[in-house]
Amino acid sequence: MRMKIILECTECHERNYVTTKNKQKHPERMEVMKYCPRLKKYTLHRETK
Ligand SMILES: [Zn+2]
Repeated sequence: MRMKIILECTECHERNYVTTKNKQKHPERMEVMKYCPRLKKYTLHRETK
């Protein structure tokens, strides 16, 4: 079962990405390096609700 999640930039708090993940495999909060269009660079994005 895959859950829809939102990835938020940890630097400017813009919600830049919507993705899915397997909650059983990854119950912890997901953190990924993604491009932030506002800051125009790669920043850490964290799962939000
Ligand atoms: Zn940002």
